[in-house]
Amino acid sequence: MSLPKRRFDSLIIGAGGAGLNAALRLSAADARVAVVSKVFPTRSHTVAAQGGVNAALANVLPDDWHWHMFDTVKGSDYLGDQDAIEYMCREAIPTVYELEHAGVPFSRLDNGRIYQRAFGGMSQNFGGDQAARTCAAADRTGHAILHTLYQQNLRARTHFFDEFFAIDLLRDEEGAILGALVLEIETGAPLVIEAKTTLLATGGYGQVFRTTTNAFINTGDGMAMALRAGVPLQDMEFFQFHPTGVAGKGMLITEGARGEGGYLMNVRGERFMERYAPKALDLASRDVVSRAIATEVREGRGCGEEGDHVLLKLDHLGRDVVGRRLPGISEICRTFLGIDPAEEPIPVFPTAHYAMGGIPTDRLGRVVAPARHGPEEVVPGLYAAGECACVSVHGANRLGGNSLLDILVFGRAAGNDIIQFLKEKPNHRPLPDSAVEPALARLARWDRKGEGETVHAVKADLRKLMEDHCGVFRTEAVMAEGVDKLKALRERIDGVRLRDHSQTFNTARIEALELDNLVDVGMATLMSALYRQESRGAHSRVDFPKRDDANWMKHSLYFREGDRMDFKPVRTKPLTVESFPPKERVY
Ligand SMILES: Cc1cc2nc3c(=O)[nH]c(=O)nc-3n(C[C@H](O)[C@H](O)[C@H](O)COP(=O)(O)OP(=O)(O)OC[C@H]3O[C@@H](n4cnc5c(N)ncnc54)[C@H](O)[C@@H]3O)c2cc1C
Repeated sequence: MSLPKRRFDSLIIGAGGAGLNAALRLSAADARVAVVSKVFPTRSHTVAAQGGVNAALANVLPDDWHWHMFDTVKGSDYLGDQDAIEYMCREAIPTVYELEHAGVPFSRLDNGRIYQRAFGGMSQNFGGDQAARTCAAADRTGHAILHTLYQQNLRARTHFFDEFFAIDLLRDEEGAILGALVLEIETGAPLVIEAKTTLLATGGYGQVFRTTTNAFINTGDGMAMALRAGVPLQDMEFFQFHPTGVAGKGMLITEGARGEGGYLMNVRGERFMERYAPKALDLASRDVVSRAIATEVREGRGCGEEGDHVLLKLDHLGRDVVGRRLPGISEICRTFLGIDPAEEPIPVFPTAHYAMGGIPTDRLGRVVAPARHGPEEVVPGLYAAGECACVSVHGANRLGGNSLLDILVFGRAAGNDIIQFLKEKPNHRPLPDSAVEPALARLARWDRKGEGETVHAVKADLRKLMEDHCGVFRTEAVMAEGVDKLKALRERIDGVRLRDHSQTFNTARIEALELDNLVDVGMATLMSALYRQESRGAHSRVDFPKRDDANWMKHSLYFREGDRMDFKPVRTKPLTVESFPPKERVY
């Protein structure tokens, strides 16, 4: 084959917190690691994380990892796998200390310990008083973590392919993953990266919705690559809408703003969360607060000329707290709204934020898929970690501060397991031409300029479609119509026009590839949502308003081939402690 080729022990696609924490393990163990990222590593979405990362350090209030585990299981609406949740909550404590020692500049308490703030859905003593568990670097925690991990990787001599776009995985006849075909964005030159293991750490896909906190790069590429390699996606109906996006725009106002004492108000000036979550109030779980806001607006108690949002009040906290603990959101308010949150309330409305579902993995980051013979097997050589993966620790609803934790803990676990894999299987498998051909064919689909409509036009229709047909409240008829519309939209992708200015050609081609990925993950979301006939966590069905454990205490799996659905059991048994049986979820 005449394509240029590079060989590494391990390929990591994605340079966010998950990819970089895995890479650091591997480089430190002297493995040859390549990290591919479509943007410069420190521009990955992890950099935008504001509020913090959870660990039961007990620096501010009493705490225990077991309480953290309870809150996470309850927050997941009992759909999270309890073995993975136990592992994550226990590992949280050494993980945060490891970050501290690597140089993350956490905010400090007067006694010098790491500052921890209150976040939603968190309690002391299994559902008691509010806990303070979220370790923060002001409201720029992700920035602090990502830059530290990047610097540590430079020191460990991780090999970076910056601004390279992964097209597809390479797969042999036996289904083993042998690396990926990537494209150098600047030149448009394809490159084969051959590796003994490949880790997908490509982040989320918030761009499938019109109003989102996610960056333009969050287009679900890794999830779509997994789908094309025959791996299903798990629990895709569960997409988190963050309660406090800037109304009409979508940028995030961290839950930390409510953690510091901010609260929500409707047009009558009522603190309406009193009616929806009498105990936890504004710090109830995100799905609960988002539904409360959407209900206030639907029932005519919204604010503003259109009555289409509510207000987040911070001015009573004083300029010092707002300035010191929430400098980033003050800046967002000044830039995008022209207001000062220390003086005026912020107009907010729920915005698409986080994918609970993704590529199914075990606790070690290994991708597991239904086997040809038997219930489930590990896909040889393939790993996934971070927001693109589903371990599953978030189940039907993620708690704030648990995603940075997930990417760090399971990025590290994947890195450790890959080291083991490389010891046991030191040789590359042969790479036949047939493994590269499907990826090349995918690239060739858009190796032209074309005449039709623009990528932008189709993408705008997709995002509106997903918002209209798969939003905070869902019904059978609306979603079924959405699936039909999405099938029709899928047909339009092949005909899109790529801008013909030669210098923009590669980026235009990449936008088409991203759109193709978004349509696949959008379909996974809609199909899974249509199938699940109950309300659980973030998935709220007007026509099935109750949780139905008898029929639906199971994970969904969507397969791209034939838009097929399947299901698998929830792992309710933790590793060392008693399990938490399902209960009604009240805050
Ligand atoms: C605004 C915002 C605030 C948040 N705040 C918090 C918070 O306070 N606490 C918390 O716990 N969680 C928070 N979250 C969620 C959390 O930040 C993310 O879930 C997490 O950072 C995702 O990390 P990741 O490593 O999986 O992926 P990302 O950081 O998204 O990185 C993905 C990487 O994949 C690369 N990539 C993707 N596709 C390709 C491709 N085709 N080819 C090559 N490279 C590719 C990208 O270049 C990037 O390097 C927040 C999210 C947002 C959007």
